[in-house]
Amino acid sequence: MSRLNRACLLTFFLCWAGTLPFSPGHAQEKIRQYRIIDVHEHIQDKWQALKYFTAIKNNSISSIVLVGSPDQVLFEPKDGLTGFTGFEKNNSELLEISKMYPGKFHAFASFSPDDERMLEKLKSFLKRGGKGLKLYNGHYWFYDFYQIPLDAPHMMPVFEWCEKNRVPIIFHANARYYWPQLKHILDTYPELIVNLPHFCMSLIDLDRIATIFNSYPNVYSDISCGEGELAYTTLEYISRYWELYRGLIKTYKDRFLFGTDMVLTHAPEKDENYVTNVFVCYRKMLENKTYTGVLIDQYLEDNQIVKTKENSLFNGLQLDTDTLDHLYEINSKNFLGIP
Ligand SMILES: [Zn+2]
Repeated sequence: MSRLNRACLLTFFLCWAGTLPFSPGHAQEKIRQYRIIDVHEHIQDKWQALKYFTAIKNNSISSIVLVGSPDQVLFEPKDGLTGFTGFEKNNSELLEISKMYPGKFHAFASFSPDDERMLEKLKSFLKRGGKGLKLYNGHYWFYDFYQIPLDAPHMMPVFEWCEKNRVPIIFHANARYYWPQLKHILDTYPELIVNLPHFCMSLIDLDRIATIFNSYPNVYSDISCGEGELAYTTLEYISRYWELYRGLIKTYKDRFLFGTDMVLTHAPEKDENYVTNVFVCYRKMLENKTYTGVLIDQYLEDNQIVKTKENSLFNGLQLDTDTLDHLYEINSKNFLGIP
C-alpha cells in the first residue's frame, strides 16, 4: 500500500460494510480509513504472508509486526507442552518476510525462556533486520514448564540492553499471576518500551491495568484476544462491560495498540478470507455499536452451539476517531520508534 499523505487519507472514505461477510446489512455504512499498524501476529512461514494482503487492502492496514513463535504456539500440541522448539526457524522466516515486503512487516524474535545466550542471539537478529523481541516467559504454559521467574538473572541483562538501545519488547506476561516479578523489571528499567499484550493479561482487573499505565509511561498494551474460546470469552466480557472498556481505552488512549494475535499456519481454514474477517471483526468491535464476526461464529460452530442473537451479537466500543487514530497508528509508531 502506498504511504499516502495522512491529510489526504482523511478525505477518503471506504464503503466497507457492503463487502463484508459479517456485515449487519447497512449497505450505506461509511467507514473512515486509517493507516493501521498491527503489532501482534504469528505466522508459520513466508508462504502464508500473502494471505494478509487482501486484509491489508480492505482494512487500511499499513504494516504488521510478526512475532517469533515456537511450534508449541503455532500448533498447540494436544499431548501437553514439551518445551520451546522450532523458534529459530520461525525467527528466520520472519526476517525473510520482512525483507520480501520492505516496510510492510516488522520481525520480532522469540527465544526459549531458559536461553542464557538470548542477548547475543537478539543482537544478531537485530543486525539482520529484526525490530524487536517477543517473550513468552510470562505465559503460564511456559512459566509452568520451565519454572523460570520473569526477572531471572539471565533475563535482567536482556531488559537492561533493550532499555538502553530502545528495542521494543512484546512481553506475554500475566500481570495478575506474576505481578511482583513484572513490577521488579518495570521498576528497574523504567525506560523499557514494552507491550504487555491482551490488556496486560488482566482483562478482568481494570485497576491493575490503570496502575501499570499510571506508573510506567513506556508500557503499552495491545487489545488482541487470540482465537477460539479465548477470543469468544474475551469479546463476550468486553461486550458485557463495554462502557468500562470504552472508558479505559479513552482514558489511556495513548497506550493501547491494535493487534489480532492470529496464528496463521498452513491449516486450510486459515485462508485469506479468514484473515480478512478477523481484521473486520476487531475493527467492528472497536468502531461499531454492535457487531458479530468470524471469531464469534467460529467458537459457536466449534462447540456446536446454536447461534442466536443473544450469543452472537455483541456490543462494540464505538470509539471516537481521535482515540482510534491513537490506537491504530500513533501509539504503534511510538512503540516501534517509527518517526
Ligand atoms: Zn500472540
